[in-house]
Amino acid sequence: MSDLRIERVEAVLLDVPLRRPHRFARASMDAQPIMLVFLHTQGGVTGVGEGVVPAGPWWGGESVETMALIVERYFTPILLGRRVEDIDATMTALTDAVANNLFAKAAVEVAMHDAWARSLGVPVHTLLGGLARTNIPVTWALGTETAEVVADEALAKLDAGLHHSFKLKMGSQSPADDVARVAAVAEKLAGSAGVRVDINARWDRPTSLTWLPRLAEAGVELIEQPVPGPEFEDLAEINHALPIPVMADESLRTPADALRLARHRAADIFSLKTTKSGGLRATRAIAEIAAAANIPCHGGTSIEGPIGTTASLHAACATPAVTWGSELFGPLLMREELLATPLHYADGELHLPEGPGLGVELDPAAVARFRRS
Ligand SMILES: [Mg+2]
Repeated sequence: MSDLRIERVEAVLLDVPLRRPHRFARASMDAQPIMLVFLHTQGGVTGVGEGVVPAGPWWGGESVETMALIVERYFTPILLGRRVEDIDATMTALTDAVANNLFAKAAVEVAMHDAWARSLGVPVHTLLGGLARTNIPVTWALGTETAEVVADEALAKLDAGLHHSFKLKMGSQSPADDVARVAAVAEKLAGSAGVRVDINARWDRPTSLTWLPRLAEAGVELIEQPVPGPEFEDLAEINHALPIPVMADESLRTPADALRLARHRAADIFSLKTTKSGGLRATRAIAEIAAAANIPCHGGTSIEGPIGTTASLHAACATPAVTWGSELFGPLLMREELLATPLHYADGELHLPEGPGLGVELDPAAVARFRRS
């Protein structure tokens, strides 16, 4: 058995250009900044994890720059000499030194899983309890452009058999204009594709109670996070008032959040993200709470590149409660692959790669090309 003690920690920043700008209510991105963390062990095995946020620090306060600083200055002295398999104790030590910063912790935690699994010659999902599935449906996220533009994009994806479900971002326009736009798209796609919306916490309770029923009438199948993350009571009231499910995203980062949401039935679906929750094990813990409360889960994304996407795919494939598909489309939005062998997307689904660890290998030339100088 190789020596699993961590000998060196390396954080690398990349800027990966996108195929088209990706817009959120409060931010837009043309390129996705990515932090890769490499954990090199004494025995020669290296694990990799990815730190990434959607279009900068607006979502959760972290950015790749804060993550690299936290990893280099505060995590590295704690990690050196520890064994990559001692994950829970190591994460506790990191949290004793650094509060919050869950996206940075996720990068390290995934790298520990990758190195440990590689040293054992098994896939990461084996360390998470084994497979519940080997592929998962991928919803495509449409931007905040006009109804015609996004409906055309959706119909093209549908015709090509690439995606069968679509998510629209809301919150950048007035509620009346936004609802009219989404209703027009939902009516165009009615009967041929599922339409979901993400308000990214932009609305308040009265706006939500006034406008969301109109989206349900237009055929929207799911409403993601209408109100700010801490507003659990408002989220619960909205969830109880609507005939379609409300999904928690910004309100759900920790297992304690999951317990509170379940207790209030504040959401009918949980969006799991390995990034926002500090890694694979916390994501599993949230999914266990969801399963106990009979709440289905969805595999969410922070627009991860291929390493983060594959980590999230292992978590989703090892978790029976993930029955509402995924939005693991990050690599499809990026102009270039970072992997030696691209991820396998087919028939609207992402397929789990085979092999030890995460089962993917970075292309060193691509990493060098997008590395921030
Ligand atoms: Mg969301």
